[in-house]
Amino acid sequence: MPWNEKSECMPVAQIQALQVEKLKETLEWVTKRVPFYKKSFKEAGIKAADIKGIEDVAKLPFTVKNDLRDNYPFGLCAVPLKEVMRVHASSGTTGKPITGPYTADDLAQWGECMARNFHAAGVRPGHVVQNAYGYGLFTGGLGFHQGATTMGCTVVPTSSGLTERQITLLKDFETNVLCCTPSYALTIAERAEELKVDLKKLPLSIGIFGAEPWTAGMRDEIEARMGIKAMEAYGLTELGGPGVGFDCEAQSGIHINEDYYLAEVVDPITLEPVPLGEKGELIFTSLQRRAMPMIRYRTKDITRLYREKCVCGRTFVKMDKIFGRTDDMLIISGVNVFPSQIESLLLDIEEVEPQYRMLVRKKGYLDQLVVQVEAKQEVYAAGDRKKFEVEAKIMAHIRGNMGISVEVNLVEPKFIARSEGKALRVVDERPKQFR
Ligand code: ADP
Ligand code: ZN
Repeated sequence: MPWNEKSECMPVAQIQALQVEKLKETLEWVTKRVPFYKKSFKEAGIKAADIKGIEDVAKLPFTVKNDLRDNYPFGLCAVPLKEVMRVHASSGTTGKPITGPYTADDLAQWGECMARNFHAAGVRPGHVVQNAYGYGLFTGGLGFHQGATTMGCTVVPTSSGLTERQITLLKDFETNVLCCTPSYALTIAERAEELKVDLKKLPLSIGIFGAEPWTAGMRDEIEARMGIKAMEAYGLTELGGPGVGFDCEAQSGIHINEDYYLAEVVDPITLEPVPLGEKGELIFTSLQRRAMPMIRYRTKDITRLYREKCVCGRTFVKMDKIFGRTDDMLIISGVNVFPSQIESLLLDIEEVEPQYRMLVRKKGYLDQLVVQVEAKQEVYAAGDRKKFEVEAKIMAHIRGNMGISVEVNLVEPKFIARSEGKALRVVDERPKQFR
């Protein structure tokens, strides 16, 4: 069911009572079936019956990515493989891949969670949905496919890449909705401009973008260049992929599907829960998944949670756009730096394109950050004096806002490789022992 008012607009006390009930069921489920959880709950001295209220979730031990790697491929699976209908896996860019198995019910839940995402983004049955997330082990492709099918849309499974063909199909199939990463949306927008195809004149009116951090500035840029509403999708393989959170017409925060996922934010150092409204590491417990439920999974994503009356009527807790991943955090002159901070400052500068990357180098004992950003064509053509002037302007803007000195290199248009999936923003050039 795409719009599930009964579930999505429940009073908060009722949502939390449901979460407690589902949490206890899940704990019993994994304690009986997954030796890893049985052992870790025993060590923590906690069992399902000890959960009385929602705050008791904090008594449970965390699960981290390494636990999934140590139990690769199916050690954390709570059902026999014959009940697993599908297996996805994360990209594994940072080591061995981690697996995400689904029962038939898990797949149906995924479809429901994703259909809610589509509905909240303004998509309706009959819309033509072009899905340019990568199909395959990555959860983006089939997750969005499943959601759009559940919604009753016409799905065009282009997968990512072949950008010119994406643009041809946007025109020929009169696509209404484009799904992909925000960085790929920008690649498509730019290629369309080069081909003199005005996307603003096409029936395309909604984008559902996610799978990587992007700032509000980037959202505005994409909306202006494509003439669409750029909506958010959030999720991760460990929790079954996209469908964990989504934004609504307010575009002012990501609602979490609270009947399926219990969200917390903790201090990433002390691991103590922080009050609502404070920033920290996002933790999730899946409440209804059966093949591989996650208990207090540490996402490494930094954001804050808050509750507010939303114009859309949903009562689900909201989270801010993801600020960054703890993995991507750099420490420059003692200051914590996330790529998203640099991105939002670059988007203030009219002489550059929103195409950038950050190189981390070692200068003596200190870490040095070099920001490469593309000049607009006319700026680049104006020569070196203009180049130095813009570089100085950006360095001053970053220093003024973040208090750090970085080196800025204005590079020629198209210097930075275009993204077709998750953009690579940080290149670590430090010798291994310093990383
Ligand atoms: P991998 O961990 O290999 O990148 P996943 O596809 O599971 O594989 O990636 C999930 C991660 O992607 C999340 O933990 C988060 O860091 C990022 N992500 C997903 N959606 C968003 C979003 N809407 N905004 C910011 N980051 C996101
Ligand atoms: Zn809302």
